[in-house]
Amino acid sequence: MAPPLIGISGCVEQSARLSGTPLVAVGVAYVRAVEEAGGAPVVTPPHPNEALLRGIFERLNGLVLSGGGDVLPALYGADDSGLLWSVNEERDRAELTLARWALAEGRPLLAICRGIQVLNVAAGGTLIQDIATQVPDALPHSSVASRPMHSVAHSVELASESRLLALLGTPTLGVNSAHHQAICALGAGLVVTALAPDGVIEGVEAPGQPFCLGVQWHPEAMLETAPAMRRLFEALVEAARAR
Ligand code: MN
Repeated sequence: MAPPLIGISGCVEQSARLSGTPLVAVGVAYVRAVEEAGGAPVVTPPHPNEALLRGIFERLNGLVLSGGGDVLPALYGADDSGLLWSVNEERDRAELTLARWALAEGRPLLAICRGIQVLNVAAGGTLIQDIATQVPDALPHSSVASRPMHSVAHSVELASESRLLALLGTPTLGVNSAHHQAICALGAGLVVTALAPDGVIEGVEAPGQPFCLGVQWHPEAMLETAPAMRRLFEALVEAARAR
């Protein structure tokens, strides 16, 4: 049986070698995580050619929304706080389109870091634009930037009865943290399934969907140090195979 095809949303990076030439990129860790879970990864383009995106989406059995910069606030009806990082409206529009299709059609979806924020906006929710200045007594959620990506930055508490708890097997666990934004108003159909000690939302899922799970941390970077994180990718691939 052919392995299920798992789209991983690509981003745009400037080449250091080729005079800043823009490249479509995706972290190797996402690709490996999907492969090791039994999926066949492909990168989706970070620009919104709707007809072509649709042609790609129809071939996908599942989707990973990857990490990256901030979502343009206008896309969730907010003003720019002036604290944004690395906004790419084309990527936002491409990923929001993919996420909305996935939600409308029940396509298995794993949303990581920026991805959980894209998922929330696709479902009609809003974002905290900068945790450090907008959440009183917040933990340092962007601390991983200067440390190895697998470093544990803070704990999360998982909701009982959640798919996340069933997969990870423990109600409290340490996670990495490389984000300065988070979910504010929750999108329709989503429930919160993980919280940091400061109240920042770290996990959501859509109980009405076959498989729709978002995490604010980077499980793909913790496969060696926290092997239970593999279960998130395995569950995505299992759901994609069942489709
Ligand atoms: Mn965090």
